[in-house]
Amino acid sequence: MALFLETSRVLVRSVKDLRPLTAKRHRVKGKWAATLPKHPPTRLALQHFDATYGAQLGPLWPSVRVALLSERKYGALFNNFSHNPHLEELVAQGCRDFISDGAAEASSQPDSSGVSTATAGVGSQQQPPPRLSPNIKCFVFPRGDVTRFKPARPDKFGLLTYYLMDAASVLPCLALDVQKSHAVLDLCAAPGGKSLALLQTQSVRFLCLNDSSASRTSRLKRVLHGYVPKELLTDDQLRVTSLDGTMWGEVERNSFDRVLVDVPCTTDRHSLMEDDNNIFSRSRVGERRSLPQLQVELLLAGILAACPGGEIVYSTCTLSLNQNLGVVEQAIQLAEENHGIQLQVVSLQPLVQMFGNTFHFAPDLHLGEMVIPHLAANFGPIYLCKLRRVT
Ligand code: SAM
Repeated sequence: MALFLETSRVLVRSVKDLRPLTAKRHRVKGKWAATLPKHPPTRLALQHFDATYGAQLGPLWPSVRVALLSERKYGALFNNFSHNPHLEELVAQGCRDFISDGAAEASSQPDSSGVSTATAGVGSQQQPPPRLSPNIKCFVFPRGDVTRFKPARPDKFGLLTYYLMDAASVLPCLALDVQKSHAVLDLCAAPGGKSLALLQTQSVRFLCLNDSSASRTSRLKRVLHGYVPKELLTDDQLRVTSLDGTMWGEVERNSFDRVLVDVPCTTDRHSLMEDDNNIFSRSRVGERRSLPQLQVELLLAGILAACPGGEIVYSTCTLSLNQNLGVVEQAIQLAEENHGIQLQVVSLQPLVQMFGNTFHFAPDLHLGEMVIPHLAANFGPIYLCKLRRVT
């Protein structure tokens, strides 16, 4: 006992000796304890997701939760406009273009028709395999490989060789099936990852990129200048606007062959990882609660902007049923009731079958498809649903 007391006295003395030598009057008491929120938005987001997604995803939720809280995986959207593409370098690092790989695997299957009846959308019994632009290439590291991509380097003309984004974000662009001569509207475009993917197709006759946020529109323009040659950024091929997308249908109806509506949402990954600019902060409760309303208005505006026969892809990066299926159902109903527009849901099952080796898709969604995060393939969440205007 005596020995213990003696030892602890020595310890205490030595700990005191380790104190900083700053004079007491110069020491500043950190204020972090007083200013840090008691309930940081990231924690509020996790509580909210545990309650809603726990019920929604059932036994899948614990593994999705772990993946969401772990480092995400990126894909490198290859820039066809750059002159010194480091394609061999990417391949040498062990990356593969998941799009051409998926297409090759699908065509080598005995039944490559892409026909599905299990979760086919309304009016879609027999479906041809998806037409994929051969020009969109997105490289990913294999399943379970969490190597990070190096930052993209500029070529001799200053154009960057690839754009890092969630590889699942390319799916809405593939689903949009842009063809030569199409006029395309990207209603919520900034910062521009999906716009870049659409431009990679080199099939767009006219592309209109819009985002209501002026600062994000500036960022979108910077991205365009970093990746696309100046001669392609002309007014007759590309228009960048910064308008409230909900009003689009009022000014330009029945005009576009393809419309991408990639709406603002709870951005689940960001909400769990970053306290800054977090939609779960107490000051943004109203904004968060009104998201589904805004999303319905944006999708409806996109539907009105499309021409009859035109196609619309709605997408989010949340697992929320309210912001995904709920919004699509409401927009379909409002389009019919208020505008006499009939819509057909286009099945995305062929796409799911093609890329089932790269992404984990949620089972049994009755409307649209959803990539759910998984530790071995930590992409998503990305929800996408495709509609075709019948009238
Ligand atoms: N598509 C983008 C991409 O791939 O990089 C991401 C879009 S982000 C999910 C949603 C965007 O919607 C934000 O940039 C936000 O500024 C924009 N937004 C929010 N409200 C809008 C509105 N009423 N009209 C148009 N854009 C809006």
